[in-house]
Amino acid sequence: MRRFSYLLLLVAIMVSCKQSNNTDKESVKIQLIRNATMKIEYAGKTILTDPMLSDKDAFMSFVNPAENKNPTVNLPFSINDILKGVDAILISHTHLDHLDAKAVEVIDKNIPLYYQSFDSETIAKYGFKNTTVVEKSSDFAGIEIIRTGGKHGRGEAVKQLGEVSGFVLKAENHPTIYWIGDCVLDDEIKANITKYNPDIIITHSGGAKFMGPNLILMDSNETVQISELAPNAKIVAIHMESLDHCFSTRKDLKNLAEQKGIEDRIIIPADGETVILN
Ligand SMILES: [Zn+2]
Repeated sequence: MRRFSYLLLLVAIMVSCKQSNNTDKESVKIQLIRNATMKIEYAGKTILTDPMLSDKDAFMSFVNPAENKNPTVNLPFSINDILKGVDAILISHTHLDHLDAKAVEVIDKNIPLYYQSFDSETIAKYGFKNTTVVEKSSDFAGIEIIRTGGKHGRGEAVKQLGEVSGFVLKAENHPTIYWIGDCVLDDEIKANITKYNPDIIITHSGGAKFMGPNLILMDSNETVQISELAPNAKIVAIHMESLDHCFSTRKDLKNLAEQKGIEDRIIIPADGETVILN
C-alpha cells in the first residue's frame, strides 16, 4: 500500500514537472524588423506583423507634423528580404507606423491578411483581397489567432486614436504568444494575461506620448510591471527607437530590468535580431 502511495506521488511530480516545463514545446522564432514589424515563425508558418516599410524620414513627425521625421531609422534589410517566405500578415491597427504607404504598395494583395473590424474600410480601400476580420478568433493553417482588446492611451487620446487590437497565437505543442499591441497597461490587459497565461508576451514599450504628457503605449515601467504580472513568461519588448514620439529607449528598459533583477526575462531585440524561444 505504502509502495503504491509512493508511486502515485512520483506520477504526480512527473505530471507537474511536465506542466511547468516549457522545453517540450516547439520553438518559435521572432525576428524584429523595426518598430512593430516582426516576422514570427510559428507552427510552420511565417507571419509578418504591422508592416511599416518606409525609409527613414519618409513620413510625418508625431511631435511636429509639419516635418518628415519618421521612421527615425532605416530598415535593417531590403524589403525583398523582409517579405521573403511570408505566409500571412497580421495587423494590430492601421496607424501609419503599423501599415504605411510603402507596405501597401509592395505587399502582394492576395496574401492572407488578418485585422480588426474597426479597420475594415481602410483595409478595403488599400485593395487587399484575401482578408479576414478577427472578431473573436480565426484559424490560419492550424494557428488560432485570438483578438484581444486594450486601450491606445488614457482619457481623451483614446477617442482620437481609435480602436486597437492585440492578438494571442496558439497552436498545439507551441508556446502561447500574447502580442499586446499599442496598448497601455490597464485592467483589460491584466485580465488577458490571466486568461491566456502566455509563455511569451510581446510588448510595445516605446513610451509614446500624444496630446500631452499621457502615455499612449507602455513605457519601461509598465513593461516591467507586465513581467511581474507574468513571472513565468518571457517578455519581448519592441516598438522602440523607431519613431520620434517614443521616449522610452532600449537602454532605459535594460537598466530598469537590471535594477529589478529580471533582465533574463525581458528580451530587448535590436532591429533585425532574431529571438528563438520555447
Ligand atoms: Zn504604434
